[in-house]
Amino acid sequence: MDIESTLARVKEKVRNKERALNRPLGSVGLLAVSKNQNSQKIIQAYEAGQRDFAENYLEEALEKIQTLNQYEIVWHFIGRIQTNKTKRISENFAFVHSVTRLKEAQRLNDQRPEDLPVLNICLQVNINNDANKQGLDPKDVLSLAKAIKTLPRLHLRGLMAILKDEIDYQKQYQGFKSLHELFILLNQHGLELDTLSMGMSQDMDAAIAAGSTMLRIGRAIFGER
Ligand SMILES: *Cc1c(COP(=O)(O)O)cnc(C)c1O
Repeated sequence: MDIESTLARVKEKVRNKERALNRPLGSVGLLAVSKNQNSQKIIQAYEAGQRDFAENYLEEALEKIQTLNQYEIVWHFIGRIQTNKTKRISENFAFVHSVTRLKEAQRLNDQRPEDLPVLNICLQVNINNDANKQGLDPKDVLSLAKAIKTLPRLHLRGLMAILKDEIDYQKQYQGFKSLHELFILLNQHGLELDTLSMGMSQDMDAAIAAGSTMLRIGRAIFGER
């Protein structure tokens, strides 16, 4: 199937889920994860109406951003942040989903170019409590969120999590629900978050049911990597 068709199929699935769950139509956003995909494929998705794309690896991303600079793409960074790369992340992306430390947030803030709008941020949370996964311990999220809220060149939008290799729907749902609960707690503390970045190709249904506002979908759009 071509990308126009796979993209349409994913969107249709999302709309059907929104209807079934009585969520407002369009309340679940779609981020196309284009890591390991060439620029030609990104253009195909763009021509089918997709505007938000996400990349994990900075060097690879910068090449594509350069090649595709005549397109009105909103670039999201979802990969691991290395301290020595914050400047180029801050200069080239509109949204960073993978912040886990105050130090990197401060650098992104200080390095955000004056002529660009504020940089949108999500905090990445380790909801599985799995030692191999990137992300903050849930108990550390509130204090980091409050600290980031004071940085003028960042706009703290919400929380992000990755659930890896979990095929059981109930477990997926429980994991995502715990992130949603943390999101509610932060908003009760006045943090005004509007983004729950959760759900990939294999767990998007559970993520939508648990309150996702932004799916990050790679394989279901572009095929296997
Ligand atoms: C690769 C990746 C995705 C997309 O995963 P798919 O299984 O291809 O849908 C989403 N989020 C992050 C952080 C990723 O690294």
